[in-house]
Amino acid sequence: MPKIEIDKERCKGCQLCMTYCPKACIEEDKSINKKGVYPVLFLDREKKCTGCSFCAIICPDLCITVYR
Ligand code: SF4
Ligand code: SF4
Repeated sequence: MPKIEIDKERCKGCQLCMTYCPKACIEEDKSINKKGVYPVLFLDREKKCTGCSFCAIICPDLCITVYR
């Protein structure tokens, strides 16, 4: 099953990945990281991630790794 990993300490919370994920698998985290921002979290509650990599391609800081 495809999944992603987000480097939460490097994430700057821009939420571009959230906006571009066609399956709404990414949500805002509830606690701040070392940068003092709310990072994002891979939740994929409905197991819809296709491994399309849109999130990883759009992330300006290369925080996302995709596993297919
Ligand atoms: S790989 Fe595609 S479906 Fe999976 S979280 Fe990223 S953008 Fe969403
Ligand atoms: S695009 Fe990258 S930096 Fe922006 S919220 Fe997503 S993981 Fe964080």
